[in-house]
Amino acid sequence: MMLLENLSYVEVEAYLVEKDIVIIPIGSTEQHSPYGLIGTDFITAEAIAREVGKRLDILVAPTLTYGMSQHHMGFKGTVTLSPETMIGVIKDIVNSFLDHGFRRIVFINGHGGNIEPVKTAFTQLKYENKKGIFEIISWFLLPEVQEIERDIFEDKNGYHATPSEVSITKLLRPEAFKTKPSEKKRLTKPRNQIYYPLSREEFKQAYPDGRMESAPWLAKEKYGKLIMEEAVRVISNRIREILKMKIL
Ligand SMILES: [Zn+2]
Repeated sequence: MMLLENLSYVEVEAYLVEKDIVIIPIGSTEQHSPYGLIGTDFITAEAIAREVGKRLDILVAPTLTYGMSQHHMGFKGTVTLSPETMIGVIKDIVNSFLDHGFRRIVFINGHGGNIEPVKTAFTQLKYENKKGIFEIISWFLLPEVQEIERDIFEDKNGYHATPSEVSITKLLRPEAFKTKPSEKKRLTKPRNQIYYPLSREEFKQAYPDGRMESAPWLAKEKYGKLIMEEAVRVISNRIREILKMKIL
């Protein structure tokens, strides 16, 4: 596996002779209900990104473990970047890779709240006339992944602390689940009855235990394996396309 953190600059120079792509996993440090891990979003994104990198022989950068999570701040342990900081962080990371000659910069994302600020950062970079392909792929939004989620969890996957993401973390960090509950609860209010965005207080009122229409108690390691494999397969195909594109 080619992890940037394990290379020397000499090895990065050699890589850049052959390739100009880097994958950056990004997630969040935020509550995932009493059932899920606070690190869920970066743990899933990192594992998927590293598996894609391994299969395609592509460099994977260190994971950005903090994201835009202001709506989860009503729950202990959540850490958030402000939208403007997040945009700044993404721009600085992309600019650093561009400086070294990378031209295909792909973020593999585990958290919905990151999408808008990351895309705004890309737009800002283009406004500044930066050359290259900047893309964010959110594994949980891939239609192929969502189809499997529907097959397994029917209408109980929901939108946060989903049994899908909890299944993947269960597969990756089984020991962390020894202290988590497993009893069934009621599903929370449907999303179409709630407006967005939400402040931390509004979120907590709408979703008192941090779930959004999800049944995380349905999570199982074997589902995590299936879902992760599909995410890796679809993202690898997308990256193969990105590799064929001509940088204008
Ligand atoms: Zn999540």
